[in-house]
Amino acid sequence: MIYENISLKKFNSFGLNVRADHLAAFKLEENAVHFFKQHKGSDKNYFVLGRGSNVLFTSDFHGTIIHPEMDGITMEGKKDNDIIVSAGAGVTWDKLVESTVNNGLGGLENLSLIPGLVGATPVQNIGAYGVEVKDTIEKVRAISLEDGTIREFTNNECRFGYRTSIFKTELKGKYLITKVYFRLSTHPKLSLEYGSLKEEINKLGSTSLGNVRKIVISTRQSKLPDPDQIGNAGSFFKNPVVTVSLVNDLKTKFPKLPVFSDHSGGMKLAAGWLIEQCGWKGKRIGDAAVHDKQALVLVNFANATGKELFELSEQVRNSVFEKFGITLEREVEVV
Ligand SMILES: Cc1cc2nc3c(=O)[nH]c(=O)nc-3n(C[C@H](O)[C@H](O)[C@H](O)COP(=O)(O)OP(=O)(O)OC[C@H]3O[C@@H](n4cnc5c(N)ncnc54)[C@H](O)[C@@H]3O)c2cc1C
Repeated sequence: MIYENISLKKFNSFGLNVRADHLAAFKLEENAVHFFKQHKGSDKNYFVLGRGSNVLFTSDFHGTIIHPEMDGITMEGKKDNDIIVSAGAGVTWDKLVESTVNNGLGGLENLSLIPGLVGATPVQNIGAYGVEVKDTIEKVRAISLEDGTIREFTNNECRFGYRTSIFKTELKGKYLITKVYFRLSTHPKLSLEYGSLKEEINKLGSTSLGNVRKIVISTRQSKLPDPDQIGNAGSFFKNPVVTVSLVNDLKTKFPKLPVFSDHSGGMKLAAGWLIEQCGWKGKRIGDAAVHDKQALVLVNFANATGKELFELSEQVRNSVFEKFGITLEREVEVV
């Protein structure tokens, strides 16, 4: 289905009323293949957009938004002791998590309630509560926007890193992901090391998949603003990964600096803490603001523009650089 001059308000979690020249929505992979083959060689400006919960539009988009609507969750079969489950790029991420948890399959439970569609999850290697989606991805199926050819990427070929992958780097803007295959466990080893997860689970009595999901959902709901109530895109910045010597230097000046180890054994600083120390928590400029409970989240109270939110993010980055000498990297993609 192709739409012309369409508002993207419903397609971005900041609720920005920007417009796109065209939006092409695909329920079937073969229709998308046909579309890209037909337009091969043209200099069309494409942008793939799922639910828009990790993007900030700073102006109207002059080009064609590609929106995946491929549906379906399928048990593909067994691999060793694991089960391979595939999901279409247009499936709501949390629907997939709910379905796997209900079927006793472990691996995605800590990623409960992350907004967005399945197709976007490998792009930035979503993560929460000590788990990243890369740990469960078997392969990713995608179509080249340039010529409509299909390619399947193994986990290794996706080159996953902290909130990144090949789809955000070398192949940025080159593929439409249509289906993701997950390798899930029928005998899951639960990951409860993050924060107070273990404590909270113990209060519920048993450490089942369902209880992990319950705790993750209630913790998220108490900490993060709901985009249906206040426009936001979750964490606006990444937590900076730094060297031990920088941590030591900073600790002498800021003894309370929180430091935690990242998956690869490196060290990470809490971007939210750095922003809070610069006095930004709860600050509002017009309708653009830094959230009062979580300084990592920028919010649109109603009528902020993408440019105003971007400008606020720049001011936040500048203050953090001035105070700590650290450049915050955006997690949200600015379009
Ligand atoms: C309240 C809130 C909480 C959040 N919490 C977390 C969290 O805990 N952890 C976390 O990692 N993220 C979090 N996020 C960010 C966001 O939910 C994820 O990045 C999510 O995967 C984005 O999905 P989407 O469908 O909205 O993607 P979009 O925002 O539409 O797109 C994100 C990027 O992926 C690309 N893309 C999307 N779909 C496809 C596709 N099918 N093929 C190729 N490229 C594609 C887009 O071009 C863009 O570059 C949060 C966001 C919000 C609003």
